[in-house]
Amino acid sequence: MEIHADLHAHSAFAGGARAGGTDEKKIRRRFIDSAHYSPLKGVNLIGTGDCQFDPWTGFLSKNLEEVENGIYEYSGDTGQNSSIPHDLSKPKYILQTELIFTGPLPDSKKRKRVHIIILFPDFDSISELNALLDKWGVSRKNMARPYVVCQTRDEVDNKIQEIMDIHPMIEMIPAHVLTPEGVYGGNNRINFMYDFFGDAHTRFNAIETGLSADPTILGMISELDRYTLISNADAHSASLNRVGREFTTYRMNNMDYTSLIDSLRRNRVVKTAEFHPTEGRYFLTGHRDMRKMPGIHAKHQFCYFSPKHVPVEDICPQCGKELTVGVLQRATEIGIAQGEPRNIGDGPKRDFVTMVPLIEIIAHYMGIKSITSKKIKRVYADVLDYTGTEVNLWIDQTIDDRLKDSKLPEKLVEQILEVKRGNFSFFPGGYDGTYGVLRIGEQIDFKDINVVQG
Ligand SMILES: [Zn+2]
Ligand SMILES: [Zn+2]
Repeated sequence: MEIHADLHAHSAFAGGARAGGTDEKKIRRRFIDSAHYSPLKGVNLIGTGDCQFDPWTGFLSKNLEEVENGIYEYSGDTGQNSSIPHDLSKPKYILQTELIFTGPLPDSKKRKRVHIIILFPDFDSISELNALLDKWGVSRKNMARPYVVCQTRDEVDNKIQEIMDIHPMIEMIPAHVLTPEGVYGGNNRINFMYDFFGDAHTRFNAIETGLSADPTILGMISELDRYTLISNADAHSASLNRVGREFTTYRMNNMDYTSLIDSLRRNRVVKTAEFHPTEGRYFLTGHRDMRKMPGIHAKHQFCYFSPKHVPVEDICPQCGKELTVGVLQRATEIGIAQGEPRNIGDGPKRDFVTMVPLIEIIAHYMGIKSITSKKIKRVYADVLDYTGTEVNLWIDQTIDDRLKDSKLPEKLVEQILEVKRGNFSFFPGGYDGTYGVLRIGEQIDFKDINVVQG
């Protein structure tokens, strides 16, 4: 069977206990919204997010029922979502969290932060992880994503291996590897996984592509050839353009945890569903406007570059500080450092489909910015009446005719099909933490961008 899974999510607590608040109703609402919206994208298995954070573990153990080995279902009533009615089945859940490891760079006093996803077979393994975190003195009372602070590479290596040794079916996956807080990220750069993880990297089976990269970009890094590449939404809110925006289709023997891990370890990935990399928040190198640190950028003062135009030493021509180095630049640099420079698309062939969030196309058509209005959600629901799920829109060629013959506004259908034909771009592309801006009917060469404004 094929399962469409988004294995990296966050709860209302992601920003910390305070961000989640103590309002039980709000916390549940957020969970239920994501339960409603993920299946609309085509996702039927979701990570719980933050499962080792005590208040959230409490919610999950009270409200989830194990329906298959390591696979859970929400036992409460999700009700019907009045803004987008649908009859897709309830999603299933897998216990999942994210930790942040910090450690030194080789031969340097600088330190690096690296995010890692963890999947658990059961609640007992989560308790054992927490016991380890307590033993290491990790502060986790107010943090849904605690920091595991390490002084040496050996310490990083040993601690990761200790977590994996809790249970043979625990899976650790380096998250969004090319973004600033991923292992290869521009924030204190390293070019080999060993330089941060030590030998622990040989025990990873998969890495997460992140929103600003897809398999054609990660294929530039030869060290990654042996890994399974997976995509996840990493949604920090339950909005329609966030949940399920990336996911992975796994071939599995059974709908249970062991089959999922087995599929992931043996690379039985059918395909990944990807954000367009240029929409991701760290695609290009640059500095956004209204930037406080480092340096100061005024309103409307910004710059962004594709790798061949990045200023010498990555220094910002406006504030004189180091630019936020984007994913495309990092992939290029790492390819060279690993002794095998490759172009985009040169790596091993991996199947994937690119999705532009449908709600953003509709917002573009309607000329409005807010994607939360009732009006826009009604149009979204109308389109889904013809496509079933959002991912179907991108993979099923027969949908084009169905849309053309539909009662949907002709101009909207034309815009959707323009995107499907590839006649669109994100300009500016994402950089320094800002998402790319969708333009339909224009194609822009992202390899040739050199903008200094203000
Ligand atoms: Zn992360
Ligand atoms: Zn600057």
